[in-house]
Amino acid sequence: MATKDMIKLVYDVLKEANRLDLAEEIVELRNNNLDLKEENLTQKQRILELTNQVELDDSIVFHEGVNWILNDSKTQGNEPTPICTRCWGVEKIVVRQKLQSYGSNGLGFNCQNCGKHFSKIGSFPKS
Ligand SMILES: [Zn+2]
Repeated sequence: MATKDMIKLVYDVLKEANRLDLAEEIVELRNNNLDLKEENLTQKQRILELTNQVELDDSIVFHEGVNWILNDSKTQGNEPTPICTRCWGVEKIVVRQKLQSYGSNGLGFNCQNCGKHFSKIGSFPKS
């Protein structure tokens, strides 16, 4: 018998026995159980988010004035990808960038999120 059905059965038996005090306790226990299940789910999601954050932190390095994601699974060939250093440092969000030529200022990008301009960026060394 499912827990939900068992609780209903116990509730009905207690109600028939004129033990409304205990029946109410059963309802309260059921509600507490639902709260704990919800809290457990929230905590599991938080653990997953933190695990993903740690893995991301471990894969980001600072090189040539910007941060790079090493072995970026979102690029073909898992190439290192430059990301906005400001957005990563301040907001902990990853804003992937595409390097463009800025004449004598070399390669760089304008962040699509914060608008900060980065220039004179070298490519990431091949390992
Ligand atoms: Zn940015």
